[in-house]
Amino acid sequence: MAGGERDAVDCVIFDLDGTILSTEQLVISVASTVLEKYDKELTDDVIASSMGKTPLDAWKSVTDMLDLSSRVTPQQLFDQSEAELTGRWHEARYLPGACRAITHLQKHGHRLALATSTSRDVLRRKIQNKSLLQTCFEVVVCGDDPDLENKGKPAPDCFLKAAKLLGIPPSRCLVVEDSPSGVQAAQAAGMQVVYIPSLPGTPIDSLPAFSDCRTLTTLLEWLPESYGLTPFADTISKCIPLSLDGVWKISGHVVKGFGRGSKQLGIPTANIDALSVSKAIPASVTGIYLGWASVSHAPTTSTTVYKMCCSIGYNPVFQNKEKSCEPWILHDFGPGTTFVGEPIKLLICGFIRPESSDFDSLDALIQRIHCDAAIARDALDHASLLQYKTDAFFQCQD
Ligand code: ADP
Ligand code: MG
Repeated sequence: MAGGERDAVDCVIFDLDGTILSTEQLVISVASTVLEKYDKELTDDVIASSMGKTPLDAWKSVTDMLDLSSRVTPQQLFDQSEAELTGRWHEARYLPGACRAITHLQKHGHRLALATSTSRDVLRRKIQNKSLLQTCFEVVVCGDDPDLENKGKPAPDCFLKAAKLLGIPPSRCLVVEDSPSGVQAAQAAGMQVVYIPSLPGTPIDSLPAFSDCRTLTTLLEWLPESYGLTPFADTISKCIPLSLDGVWKISGHVVKGFGRGSKQLGIPTANIDALSVSKAIPASVTGIYLGWASVSHAPTTSTTVYKMCCSIGYNPVFQNKEKSCEPWILHDFGPGTTFVGEPIKLLICGFIRPESSDFDSLDALIQRIHCDAAIARDALDHASLLQYKTDAFFQCQD
């Protein structure tokens, strides 16, 4: 269909893991629990070395890196974590934009389906506390459905079955997918695709590209009207609230950054330690967000909560290799103030825009960051985002 007319869409078929739900923080937390029994800690570099691997291979590298091979096998660690996960799948949280998109499509009467590689039993566990996902899909196809001839993606069978049950021709179905094999499956089924890669720790422009398939960094960027569906109408002063998908709360420490925030841009950013960020925010998330921040530097005992906007990602203008989360606290602390080593809390509650390298000059970037800050100042005065300023998260000690 390259370049040609697309059919209007009558149905949106979602993938589950990595598209609607983020399971990786849960997996990290379960892995930490399993390792505690061996008096080992899941450190940043161990997590990094496991990303993008199959669970068993990930446990192989953990065993090697933590010198555990004389005490336990990767298979045993894998079995222990699977047993623990069984009781905890319901802790998987929404990815940004997923709950928002589904709620919106459902409200406007658009038809919805789910086509997942997850088994029906694990699906039931993952959605047991998510009433929206229990009711919003007219059709649910699971990886272990006995009538699927070819079960896993990239085989198109699961998508074709969904379309058949809905009675909609494939060309009028839109698939939302995060994995390359899922995109292949949808295209092999003759469907339209929105591709939102979730490969952890990978900048979007280093991933394989697909022709005739829109690639987005987050579902928050998706415009349903491009497919003949009802447009969103929930922005607050040019930001998209994360209220439906769940806000992110990060409690960490300020670390030394690249030393260019103040010097090159005149915009200081209090970079947060990577482990605290990875515990709170799905690895695939990048973009410019807004919210509230507190730092323990203030000489008073009462907690002051400030407006902030932050970039999460790889700063494409500077092409960082490591992902960072850098809040610019919208307050003048005076010259020479540094928070390095201090505890910091962030509550991220709105999305402004994706990261971009598309700036003609450093000045253009600086101007855009000031524009982001203006959006944050304005949006955070709205009651629905202002409420988070007094969130109990900022009062508690840990
Ligand atoms: P780095 O690259 O080390 O992050 P920056 O120039 O970005 O250097 O900022 C340096 C430090 O400025 C931050 O670590 C933080 O301690 C301090 N700082 C002072 N005022 C602010 C502010 N309003 N927002 C964020 N950080 C600030
Ligand atoms: Mg910084």
